[in-house]
Amino acid sequence: MLKSPYLQRVFDEVRNKDLNQPEFIQAVETFFLSMDELVIQTPSIEKNAVMERLIEPERFIQFKVTWVDDQGSIKINRGYRVQFNSLLGPFKGGIRFHPSVNESTMKFLGFEQTFKNALTGLPLGGAKGGSDFNPIGKSDQEIMRFCQNYMLELYRHIGPNTDVPAGDIGVGNREIGYLYGMYKKIQNEHTGVLTGKGLSYGGSLVRKEATGYGLCYFVTEMLKTYRRDTIEDKKVIVSGSGKVGYHAAIKAFELGAVVVGMSDINGFIYDQNGLDMKAVSDLCVNGDLTKKYIETHECIYGNNPRDLWQQPCEIAMPCAIQNELNLEDAKALVKNGCFLVAEGANMPCTLDAENYFRTQNILFAPGKAANAGGVAVSLFEMSQNAQHYPWRYDEVDEKLKGIMRDIFIKCYSAAIKYKDPYDLISGANIASFLRIYEAMLEEGIV
Ligand code: NDP
Repeated sequence: MLKSPYLQRVFDEVRNKDLNQPEFIQAVETFFLSMDELVIQTPSIEKNAVMERLIEPERFIQFKVTWVDDQGSIKINRGYRVQFNSLLGPFKGGIRFHPSVNESTMKFLGFEQTFKNALTGLPLGGAKGGSDFNPIGKSDQEIMRFCQNYMLELYRHIGPNTDVPAGDIGVGNREIGYLYGMYKKIQNEHTGVLTGKGLSYGGSLVRKEATGYGLCYFVTEMLKTYRRDTIEDKKVIVSGSGKVGYHAAIKAFELGAVVVGMSDINGFIYDQNGLDMKAVSDLCVNGDLTKKYIETHECIYGNNPRDLWQQPCEIAMPCAIQNELNLEDAKALVKNGCFLVAEGANMPCTLDAENYFRTQNILFAPGKAANAGGVAVSLFEMSQNAQHYPWRYDEVDEKLKGIMRDIFIKCYSAAIKYKDPYDLISGANIASFLRIYEAMLEEGIV
């Protein structure tokens, strides 16, 4: 129950209108819970119908993607692009290829992205795209044909000053290459219309590492501020071993943490003395970490990735997918000594898990702040493309550190001013909201 009758009314309307969109409703509820007091103290928010305007995407595009598999069968998938909010700049957000992609996941991701992009302080609006296409088990040729057909529709909705997609789950360097190749062929221009590109044709150094590295930089700021401590010697578990999870684990290890557990869709691995990170590095390249790791290493293994949360650690980084960590998992983590949770994925913790961490005084880094490093470096990639000049690795990495420090300070300052210093969920929501709110008032009723 929300304290502000206005927020409660808007929330009830969303629940009725978008009844079959549970992830979107969850994202809106988490956001509204942070905004309660501010909305009560600021009547102009209701007067300007700010919340109604914020929760409605500017444009929701759904299209058919027809492609032919290696056996010659015709396949049809649904493609999406939600252009959620462009108040601060061109739409920006990743493309996800995963069977769970639907209207609800697209809208929750676009909504979250809007606030995340606002926190970076950069001129970026929020968007998301994807398809229910499942890349697992597809040949390289099938992936290429699918990407090309997806772009055959998407190209008319995007552009370097309109909407700039990037990767997400199931979309990495290979897919971005195929998407970009097709866009270039149709439009006959080489522009920064996608980020996460290969280095040979306009990509940025540190882009592929940025979300995972940024997550560790954010955690470092939290440990320094709240505990006068570092990540050194802390036992860390990371779920997922894709682009975000892998790079978070590697950076944590480089900073002196002991990475004791990781997972993928096939299960989890755990070693209280620390995983062999050289082996993790070699195996993650092929995307088959857990099964291959146990062929050559003695460690605890389970074929349910969720059981990773039952293992002891001090820091947990959920980096796989939405709602991968529920209340029961949260209780196990706290019981086993976890004191900090940092979301690398988007909304990986259920709302009751999040609330539980709050009641237990667990330090909590919400995804929209802690995983914003990827989109920040995407903007750097856009800048390099516009300048036709690549930046050095150390230059990008330093800028990334600076952005993550700034994001932490914004969240922490807003938490102190409006809630309590430990409530970074509210801090992130309020700090990003205030920037968007200002732009909304200045740009008029559009
Ligand atoms: P990837 O596709 O590269 O990796 C996803 C990883 O999660 C894979 O290792 C996959 O296993 C694993 N996985 C999938 N489902 C589960 C599950 N239920 N339990 C455990 N592991 C699982 O995606 P990304 O790393 O790019 O994205 C991960 C998360 O981070 C998403 O929520 C995304 O929205 C978010 N994010 C990504 C950003 C980016 O820059 N890429 C930026 C900000 C947020 P397997 O390989 O076996 O399928």
